[in-house]
Amino acid sequence: MGIRVLTLSDVETPAVYSSRIRSRFGSNDLVISCGDLPSYYLEYVISMLNLRLYYVNGNHVQRPESEDNAERYEHPWGAINLHRKVVYDREHDLLLAGIEGSSRYNDGPHQYTQGEMWRMVLGLAPQLARNRVKYGRYLDVFVTHASAAGIQDDIDKAHQGIDAFRWLLATFKPRYHLHGHMHHYNPLKPNLSQFGNTTVVNTYGYREIEI
Ligand SMILES: [Zn+2]
Repeated sequence: MGIRVLTLSDVETPAVYSSRIRSRFGSNDLVISCGDLPSYYLEYVISMLNLRLYYVNGNHVQRPESEDNAERYEHPWGAINLHRKVVYDREHDLLLAGIEGSSRYNDGPHQYTQGEMWRMVLGLAPQLARNRVKYGRYLDVFVTHASAAGIQDDIDKAHQGIDAFRWLLATFKPRYHLHGHMHHYNPLKPNLSQFGNTTVVNTYGYREIEI
């Protein structure tokens, strides 16, 4: 039996933010958000499904009405931020790592140059190497907001893929790369593709996958 994962990103889904969320999504084991969702939405999912929720922030962190809430906006209550972290989920025997944000296109928050992305990704490498020794594999699920260069990315500055992410996929071969940020209304653009050993999933809206 695989691990059933509910993924969320970018847009709120009425079926998720609903009183029927338990009957519709209650059979999942874990929730992963790839960013650009408000805290109240993620907190609703956590409290209603009573599941662990991992996340990274997107580039669109919605600003609170008052600055008192600023902290909570970027850190939904009860959720686990994967940014620049490698985490072992013992209950599901799952190795996760994450990087928030997108490539830099203006002066907004959570935007990084390719060089900054490289430094953050390389910062994960020692722990991924330790995973190999300890668990026999580097990584199971790589969670980001932006996509990897040349894989489900786009050519404009805001949506160009991250070179360091592609390197991580090629080097550490996670089973899954989950990302958001790509609002695909064009049905010809893929939301699911294979890169070597890695299944790459655009989590726009919501998805249910079995790992
Ligand atoms: Zn985005």
